[in-house]
Amino acid sequence: MSVARTIRPLARAAASSSSRTPLSRTAFQRASPASRCLSTTPLRRYEANNVTTEGDPYDLTTMLPTPITHFSETEQAMAEAVSKFANDTILPKVREMDENEKMDPAIVEQLFEQGLMGIEIPEKYGGAGMNFTAAIVGIEELARVDPSVSVMVDVHNTLVNTAILKYGTEESRKKWLPKLATDTVGSFCLSEPASGSDAFALRTKAEKSSNGYKINGSKMWITNSIEADFFIVFANLNPDKGYKGITAFIVDKATKGFSIAKKEKKLGIRASSTCVINFDDVEIPASNLLGEEGQGYKYAIGLLNEGRIGIAAQMTGLALGSFENAARYVWNDRKQFGSLVGEFQGMQHQLAQAYTDISAARALVYNAARKKEAGQDFVRDAAMAKLFSSQVAGRVSGAAIEWMGGMGFVREGLAEKYWRDSKIGAIYEGTSNIQLTTIAKLLQREYTA
Ligand SMILES: Cc1cc2nc3c(=O)[nH]c(=O)nc-3n(C[C@H](O)[C@H](O)[C@H](O)COP(=O)(O)OP(=O)(O)OC[C@H]3O[C@@H](n4cnc5c(N)ncnc54)[C@H](O)[C@@H]3O)c2cc1C
Repeated sequence: MSVARTIRPLARAAASSSSRTPLSRTAFQRASPASRCLSTTPLRRYEANNVTTEGDPYDLTTMLPTPITHFSETEQAMAEAVSKFANDTILPKVREMDENEKMDPAIVEQLFEQGLMGIEIPEKYGGAGMNFTAAIVGIEELARVDPSVSVMVDVHNTLVNTAILKYGTEESRKKWLPKLATDTVGSFCLSEPASGSDAFALRTKAEKSSNGYKINGSKMWITNSIEADFFIVFANLNPDKGYKGITAFIVDKATKGFSIAKKEKKLGIRASSTCVINFDDVEIPASNLLGEEGQGYKYAIGLLNEGRIGIAAQMTGLALGSFENAARYVWNDRKQFGSLVGEFQGMQHQLAQAYTDISAARALVYNAARKKEAGQDFVRDAAMAKLFSSQVAGRVSGAAIEWMGGMGFVREGLAEKYWRDSKIGAIYEGTSNIQLTTIAKLLQREYTA
């Protein structure tokens, strides 16, 4: 599919708010009006008498701070458009994809058509040319309906596309980004059978060959690997240098010696593929080196720091989705003792606590995203956002099953699926212990005299 032929209605509509058509609200949204973005407060301008008015959005020098969760018009349009797409197109297939443990190829195709696979890729490379927060908004809205689709978009955008944008040469950007924006799914291959949390103990090796490099080894737990054709692979080019030998490479799935050894059967996010990949004398050209030799560990750290905000958004979207699913039931459908079960104070307090937790998690997520966009240090914020969001997702989706009683436990609805899906938030892109270690290390640095 050529870039020119590709249509990206969602991102285009979002990027050009003036050309945006009003989106009809689905029944899903109507039932939960307060669950849209936390704030749409317009930017405000400071004036001498302390009265604030709507200001010129381009005059940043006179702007007062806005709430962390303020969405720009573009981001708000993105949220609405993705929410509509998720409810109209993905929702009817969620249960089937989970039962079959397979992503529907039509969904993948539509993600490309909607521009959701090239959110931050500049328009000159065929992408939507939007900002990081727009990607976070999209990931969150997708997870509200299906965390499996959300993680596909998350890994592809925040790890793979970003890797090429940040570390690729202009030649490789021109070669790969138009494909990644339009028809080629990407995977990010760091983990191995013997290296998970201790990622830089990886054993996959690269050596120089006559035309470029040769890779040998195995990768484990690789998201998107069934659907992907494009793999960013971390291998050690100089094991004598330890982690400083780790180098990033681009590998095409069609390369001889590349094979998918095993597809994992999982507890949650079952429609998202997770595989073991083998590399047996995989020869790649020198142009498939990503960035510089020996810099792979730095790239991996940098990418995962950003990627964590995406996983945190996946978890807040999941938490919100599970909350809304249960809230609709307890406040509309289920009566006991002559009342809707959501009218009992014991239930109301739990619902209120859960929504407060979700709102706190979202504030952490959007604060981390804004700090990244502002070029500020966001590492601790990203770790806190991922840690807390995954905890909230687990708590809320677990409680939501209980609020729905037997209806929460059966596989007819989505309550039990949200809870199964929530477990991964505390594992990938750094376990919760690893996030705690990062947070503590940075705190100790700050508080050490
Ligand atoms: C569904 C799924 C998708 C994934 N997708 C990808 C992908 O696309 N690409 C990729 O590269 N990887 C991927 N991963 C791998 C994922 O990043 C790792 O599973 C994760 O980093 C944890 O590694 P591990 O599973 O080996 O756990 P381990 O590292 O073995 O950890 C086991 C336990 O020990 C704890 N622990 C380990 N070290 C410490 C420590 N120093 N201090 C305290 N506690 C510690 C952990 O917190 C955890 O509780 C995926 C994993 C899953 C399950």
